[in-house]
Amino acid sequence: MTLVYLDNNATTMVAPEVVEAMLPYFSQNYANPSSIYDIAHNASEALKESREVMADFLGAANPKEIIFTSCGSESANMAIKGALEVNRNKKHIITTKIEHPCVLNLYKDLEKKGYRVSWIDVDKNGDLNISRLLEEVCSDTALVSVMMANNETGTIYPVDKISEAVKMQNPETKVFVDAVQAAGKIPINVKNTKIDMLGISGHKFHAPKGVGALYVKTGTMISPLIIGGHQERGKRAGTENVPYIVGMATAAKLAKDALEDELTRVKALRDKLEKGILSSIKNSVLNSKSKNRVPNTTNIGFQYIEGELILLHMNDEGICASSGSACTSGSLEPSHVLRAQGVPFTSLHGSIRFSLSRYTTEADVQYTLEKLPAIITKLAKISPFQKELAEIMG
Ligand code: PLP
Repeated sequence: MTLVYLDNNATTMVAPEVVEAMLPYFSQNYANPSSIYDIAHNASEALKESREVMADFLGAANPKEIIFTSCGSESANMAIKGALEVNRNKKHIITTKIEHPCVLNLYKDLEKKGYRVSWIDVDKNGDLNISRLLEEVCSDTALVSVMMANNETGTIYPVDKISEAVKMQNPETKVFVDAVQAAGKIPINVKNTKIDMLGISGHKFHAPKGVGALYVKTGTMISPLIIGGHQERGKRAGTENVPYIVGMATAAKLAKDALEDELTRVKALRDKLEKGILSSIKNSVLNSKSKNRVPNTTNIGFQYIEGELILLHMNDEGICASSGSACTSGSLEPSHVLRAQGVPFTSLHGSIRFSLSRYTTEADVQYTLEKLPAIITKLAKISPFQKELAEIMG
């Protein structure tokens, strides 16, 4: 059976080189890196090297600025809660309406606990009005938090520029960037930026699930989320997951080497898929409209057709994609990101995200372009919106 995996923003295949690099740390160098015998030394050396690799991957000046975590959600929670905890007298946060639920729902929770949150809108292309964001910065603003790339549409946000401008308004305000969907897709370089904290997740760039990292700029105080031993310089207790950390560092090196491929070949495949769908399926409309997009993602709405049905029929043909973020698909709630963009109800419920990776082939795209039109035609016949579809489809 054919398998075409176009859901790489949900998670990615673990690269074979990553699996290979991890194996010795399960069966040979499995000791606790804080112990003193030789095999522990191998583990602690691997931890040290991995930290250097991750610092290089993110452009951090010092490996000590890297904290290993278990996932992107933990990185975000640690940064946000940790920074607010050390700055308790400030009660204002600025964020966007299109953040991932691990950030969005945390801010909703903080709102209930007495924080004032300014939720900044995006326009119909998904782009952010930066001047609008800056108008909100005041002396009480503890934190500004903007994602680097959106998981559903791929839109890139100019976080360097935003952090710079925020600090001009209030140098004490901290800036957190959720870069989970940027890592491995576009260069990340915190050096010479005013970003204080930036989170990533291994499983989005061909490392396993269960490992992530948080960059915390030297001098930025955060209180720990997990209290216990003194691992990670007291910022995150718990014995380090050495095999997974080694895996993530290996994946980061591979991603760095493959970045050129991502920005050219993967982008060309994504564009081919996007143009092919938009030209062959009459009720399709592009939701990923921003000029600034990661190279692997497109989001397309199919008017008057239910997205979950499209996904099920694609699944029958061996094609995997998604109708929202991995966390919201499975519920029939329409995407908060597309709603914020003002995507009309006619295509909101029938929007599909296709996300490619360096393992996506020309044949995968060709196969999808062959199968999808027939699926949409079939579903159009059973849609309750026959009159509207007849007008569009002719
Ligand atoms: N941030 C963004 C933009 C994401 O897309 C995701 C996962 O989809 C996360 C954070 C959470 O990452 P994790 O699944 O590693 O917790």
